[in-house]
Amino acid sequence: MGKIKRNALLSIPLVGVKAPNTCPLCERVIPRHHLEAHHLIPKSKGGKSTVLLHSACHKQIHALITETDLANHFNTIESLKTHAGLAKFIDWIKTKPIDFKERVRKSKQLKSSAHW
Ligand SMILES: [Zn+2]
Ligand SMILES: [Zn+2]
Repeated sequence: MGKIKRNALLSIPLVGVKAPNTCPLCERVIPRHHLEAHHLIPKSKGGKSTVLLHSACHKQIHALITETDLANHFNTIESLKTHAGLAKFIDWIKTKPIDFKERVRKSKQLKSSAHW
């Protein structure tokens, strides 16, 4: 999984290297080591465009929403924000320090299915 993730990050064009990346979900700056690329439409569904998110925000998306639902209903940042569970998470994470260590734990079953 680490290898796949690194490849995903390498494919992101570096636009304005010095500008801090801001998470479109919780709208806070993303520390470098928390950067993760999310496919708005899952790769397995043919999606290509990615957005950069906090690893915590990213994991939460996949903890709450299946790939099918992502592809069909939550394939934009705006629609993701309308997801009740995710909106709740965003409200909560916003109250945490920026370097907050996420505590989402995936089940083994989820871990073994490569969705990014
Ligand atoms: Zn975030
Ligand atoms: Zn993702």
